[in-house]
Amino acid sequence: MLDATPTTLVERKALRVNPAKTCQPIGAMYSALGIHGCLPHSHGSQGCCSYHRSHLTRHFREPIMAATSSFTEGTAVFGGGANLRQALKTIYQLYDPPVVAITTTCLSETIGDDIPTIIREATESGVIPDGKTVIHANTPSYVGCHITGWSNMTASMVKYLSERSGESRNQVNLIPGYVEPSDTRELKQMLATWGIDAVTFPDTSDVVDTPQTGHFQMYPQGGTTVEALKTTGDSLATIALGPEASTQAAIALEAKCQVPHHILDLPIGVAATDRLVQTLMEVTGTQPTDEIVNARGRLVDVMTDMQSYLYEKRVAIAGDPDQVVPLVEMLVTCGAKPVYVITGAESKYFRDRTQAILGETVPEAVIRDNEDLFYLHQLMKQEPVDLLISNVYGKYIARAEDVPFVRYGWPILDRVGHSYFPTLGYGGSLHLLCTIINTLLDRKDRDDADETFELVL
Ligand code: SF4
Repeated sequence: MLDATPTTLVERKALRVNPAKTCQPIGAMYSALGIHGCLPHSHGSQGCCSYHRSHLTRHFREPIMAATSSFTEGTAVFGGGANLRQALKTIYQLYDPPVVAITTTCLSETIGDDIPTIIREATESGVIPDGKTVIHANTPSYVGCHITGWSNMTASMVKYLSERSGESRNQVNLIPGYVEPSDTRELKQMLATWGIDAVTFPDTSDVVDTPQTGHFQMYPQGGTTVEALKTTGDSLATIALGPEASTQAAIALEAKCQVPHHILDLPIGVAATDRLVQTLMEVTGTQPTDEIVNARGRLVDVMTDMQSYLYEKRVAIAGDPDQVVPLVEMLVTCGAKPVYVITGAESKYFRDRTQAILGETVPEAVIRDNEDLFYLHQLMKQEPVDLLISNVYGKYIARAEDVPFVRYGWPILDRVGHSYFPTLGYGGSLHLLCTIINTLLDRKDRDDADETFELVL
């Protein structure tokens, strides 16, 4: 299908082919779903909202609810204020959500709709009933990507809701980053077994991975409550995981409520998870449980047992910066060689950290941010790799080049399990590592000649 991709690299400034990112409001909508009882609202045309909802629905295989201001040609001329007021009236008449989180789109940003003013007027005129919460994030999609949108909405939770009462609480704030609901659940469970009280936000577990009960629930049981979000200003510290997705909210919280923050890589692999554990030890003054220490030991054991299958393997990786950086670190720790590493986002963090990890171990590595999958494919055509790791869009490249393929990141539209099995923490990293190694072993079984085809590997 992509067999005709040329090997000649041509510098492109104004064209993306097979982009490795998607638009801001999708990330913002996903973040908003992590507030309990929240109905995301897309301030733009129906087409944008349909796209955002369907992309989330296809990834999570769950119905994603969201409302839209339903722009028309007239709105583009006269502004979207009237549409948003009418939308809020309808939303409260029909769906009565405790929280509405408004995201803007390219069009409403270009028009320049002043959302805070519209929200204030709607509150004063009673369109927004007493006791209801409405927040918003500006998410113009001609800049940034889904990670920027997530970051903007998460920061808006702080700006609108965090409070400082003057009495501190023995709890930490945990911002898990743009991750699967299973990852957030894994992190919460780790803190719970450790005995650390935490406000985790946004928390999409039990929202986009709800059990089948036979009854439709407009507002699932999961999500961080507004009450809990308000207390984040009284916490001991904020642990922000994934610098691109979580830094903005952590800094906003420190600026607003003087809660000190710690920004860490997503805990993928032993080293990154160790850094999270170490930070939690310092912040809380407590030690991790045996359960956590044993989970670490199991991960190290599998890394040691199976290292020979990863050693010197050339790997191409594409994905979001927060996931890719610690994944590269984990692979290098296991002896693999990430030779092509790209992200669709613009990210200094990605460039600097990946370079620091690969500078000595894989000096020939090509590291590029703000890049597309077409470019990655061209690199792979020039000098092949043993493994490709990317979101679902990499499957065309893997097929064209006949390369083993691990789906990882956002979005995955053709497989199940990604939202149910974590890839963070010691346990999640073990799951991810096993997926990678087993993919290589499957390929070895496929390629081995009869005389080297082994039962025990
Ligand atoms: S118009 Fe903008 S906000 Fe709407 S779907 Fe396209 S990129 Fe996203």
